[in-house]
Amino acid sequence: MSGNEPVEKRIQVSVWIWARLVLGLRIRGKGRRESGAFLLGHWTGQLGTVTRVVFYDQLDSHAYENGIIMFHGEGLATLWKICRNSGLEVIADSHTHGNMGTGQSVTDQRNPMIPEVGHTALIFPYFARMAPWSMRGVGVHEYLGNFKWRRHDKNGLSDRIRLTLW
Ligand SMILES: [Zn+2]
Repeated sequence: MSGNEPVEKRIQVSVWIWARLVLGLRIRGKGRRESGAFLLGHWTGQLGTVTRVVFYDQLDSHAYENGIIMFHGEGLATLWKICRNSGLEVIADSHTHGNMGTGQSVTDQRNPMIPEVGHTALIFPYFARMAPWSMRGVGVHEYLGNFKWRRHDKNGLSDRIRLTLW
């Protein structure tokens, strides 16, 4: 041990991009269906900085058919293409639930969007009908591998995600 023990991943998002994410999820959900998006940006060690949001329907036009999110391999291929062309990396994924519950459904647990250990998945309550500058009440989940997850938010807040003003 040399004092270089790994620290927890941290993600920072400007309030402007965060508001675009919340409003984009809300508009797409129309108050009655789930929607989702990937947060892209850069990793500097364990610190991820989000610079861009890509909604599922921008990757797969059939993403919201049947009222639930059906995200297909085709959409992921498009995502990797965007990452390759822009030099951006995936920082987190996000989707909405229709009620206050921001725990993961069994389907969420069994289908990590990015099945990479340490990956962060966000869940917004009430189809993201919330103040667009707030992250209060958002579920923050870390993928541990083997379909196991760790929940990071407590009392509606998490220090894994930080909103910045720039
Ligand atoms: Zn879910």
